[in-house]
Amino acid sequence: RVGAEAAVLREPAHIASGERVAVLINVAKPDELAAIDPAICDGIGLVRTEFLFSSPAGLPDEETQYRAYRTILEWAGDKPVTIRTVDAGGDKPVAGLTIDGESNPFLGTRGVRLSLERPAIFRLQLRALARAAEHGNLKIMLPMVTVPSEIDRAAALLGAAIEELEAEGIPCRRPPLGIMVEVPAVAVVPELFGAAAFFSIGSNDLTQYTTAAARDIAAVAELGDAGHPAVIALIRNVVEGAAKLGIDVSLCGDMGGDPQLLPALMSAGLRAVSVAPPLVGRVKLALARISGEGA
Ligand code: PEP
Ligand code: MG
Repeated sequence: RVGAEAAVLREPAHIASGERVAVLINVAKPDELAAIDPAICDGIGLVRTEFLFSSPAGLPDEETQYRAYRTILEWAGDKPVTIRTVDAGGDKPVAGLTIDGESNPFLGTRGVRLSLERPAIFRLQLRALARAAEHGNLKIMLPMVTVPSEIDRAAALLGAAIEELEAEGIPCRRPPLGIMVEVPAVAVVPELFGAAAFFSIGSNDLTQYTTAAARDIAAVAELGDAGHPAVIALIRNVVEGAAKLGIDVSLCGDMGGDPQLLPALMSAGLRAVSVAPPLVGRVKLALARISGEGA
């Protein structure tokens, strides 16, 4: 199988009907990119920026963030790169940023909720991203969106950051602003989220919130099954909602890398997945055997 994977690794992915499927990669530690050939993927579907926020030296300044984002964009060349604003909280506590002592951090102030609570910190990340956007095909993504007004508030802060940079004479660009669809409140009524430039389904959190089985509690891992028909139905609803809105939709949760679950995703109409880099070959091989019928 290793030989078969190697043969398709640098080829564009298709399902058996010949329809093209975009296969992008998830990045959590950008140091890994040096050893990866950009030709294996259609871009980066998710950069988890928490790596910048976990240094014992404290929260990252604008320059540190700008350099990190720029390096990733330069690696990708013309290919799209979706960088997610910091998703602190829940399973990803950050000293000096997340709120201690919440009774249930997964249902608390995490992701974009926390960024909107801490606009001074959010501002630095948005400035760094707008500056880095000069160096590639950048999209910004908000985690844990629950209501449309969160997109409006983040968009206003992005606009303000860009106005500041322009007034300071610092080169920058306004990237498209999209959202993770990982809270059921969004997946049930995606058509209300037309303010987003794109959707990326976060199946890890969407599964935990739909099944009420925490992703970090091993005893309920079997219930937290991304293949649950309710999760698949929500994904289909998101794909259909995106089509009605005329926006792109992809999936960046772990189920996109699971050959057992890819047929259900293709049947739900999905045609873009973002997976861990070591899974790219396996995913491309698995896709080639899927009819995609039912979409
Ligand atoms: C997800 O929730 O599916 C996702 C991709 O984000 P994370 O695993 O970082 O929460
Ligand atoms: Mg998530």
